Amino acid sequence: MSSSVIDFVATEARFGAHNYEPIGVVLSRGEGVWVWDTEGNRYLDCLSAYSAVSQGHCHPKILAAMVEQAHRLTLTSRAFHNDQLAPFYEEIAALTGSHKVLPMNSGAEAVESAIKSVRKWGYEVKGVPDGQAEIIVCANNFHGRTLGIVGFSTDPDTRTHFGPFAPGFKIIPFGDAAALAEAITPYTVAFLVEPIQGEAGVILPPAGYFTEVRELCTTNNLMLVLDEIQTGLGRTGKLLAEQHEGIEADVTLLGKALSGGFYPVSAVLSNNDVLGTLRPGQHGSTFGGNPLACAVARAALRVLTEEGMIENAARQGARFLEGLKDIRANTIREVRGRGLMLAVELHPEAGRARRYCEALQGMGILAKDTHEQTIRIAPPLVITSDQVDWALERLATALTQDFS
Ligand SMILES: *Cc1c(COP(=O)(O)O)cnc(C)c1O
Repeated sequence: MSSSVIDFVATEARFGAHNYEPIGVVLSRGEGVWVWDTEGNRYLDCLSAYSAVSQGHCHPKILAAMVEQAHRLTLTSRAFHNDQLAPFYEEIAALTGSHKVLPMNSGAEAVESAIKSVRKWGYEVKGVPDGQAEIIVCANNFHGRTLGIVGFSTDPDTRTHFGPFAPGFKIIPFGDAAALAEAITPYTVAFLVEPIQGEAGVILPPAGYFTEVRELCTTNNLMLVLDEIQTGLGRTGKLLAEQHEGIEADVTLLGKALSGGFYPVSAVLSNNDVLGTLRPGQHGSTFGGNPLACAVARAALRVLTEEGMIENAARQGARFLEGLKDIRANTIREVRGRGLMLAVELHPEAGRARRYCEALQGMGILAKDTHEQTIRIAPPLVITSDQVDWALERLATALTQDFS
């Protein structure tokens, strides 16, 4: 590392809370699938800011929409109407087939808002006695970092010494419909789940799981809340990951790529009366639904469909997965994923995934380890076949490298 890179890293370490352990690269520019560090080295971004820059870095049309809107009007608060919110509602509802929209900022806020809304629905529509609502969630979930959310995490790092936590959550194994059937009581208002567990290491449920889940939720009159903050908006090769399962959630949560990485924008979408229970003054956000966010989100959604990014994610994801499966390296335990949400799980004897990510950095690829043994691969959805092949060559080299 050069002295300037060391300065950036050291200054971060000196002043910043150490709640991250970044790979030692300081980025200063991005375009499409590529990012550049302060020394001009180019990397293929295989994390895409956890799928927030699915549309590619600094997409020119989203940038133009953002700049244009920033010149006109950025924030009104919801105390007044603005001319971007209505078209945003219309466009996202038409695209996703939802009836109601609640705009927020971060993904965690969308999750919190959904929890509040399904509880309210439970009391006011389902008739659960006040204070008794139960929400079922899955082990190894990741739904964000607020106090409410980390309280039902099963990851010790996420939870330890942050309590006491809010009651009302029941944890069951992911991918186990029988466990869901068993956990449901008359007081259950919702099942909150990720279609594919991203942070847990790209864990796909068994085939047919979500069909059973959908049936159980319908039969027992509880809301199926799908956290599509990472899986949604084309990442898995469909607009929503639920489409792979042939089901529809009652409540869908979007974030991350909803702004193409320009701005924090999230949304709760519902196709029934869940959001209808919220009355004036009962929930809100100063920045939620602001005109700048809406203009950015509208452009981010437009380029996703207009430029065929969802189809490209399906096509390139299949190519990438096949290519990973063809790598013959005894470091690899399993390769899995859907669309451009991919993971390589290493054998325990192969050593920590972090080492491989650092080796990949030296070859011009930025990828992220998760849970010690897994390398996550999630490039922007605009990646080309040539770029996939380029990445596969380097991955093959890195994964067959002998570190011992
Ligand atoms: C990233 C993520 C969140 C949290 O989003 P933030 O914007 O970081 O608050 C929630 N759920 C899932 C599935 C995510 O991947």
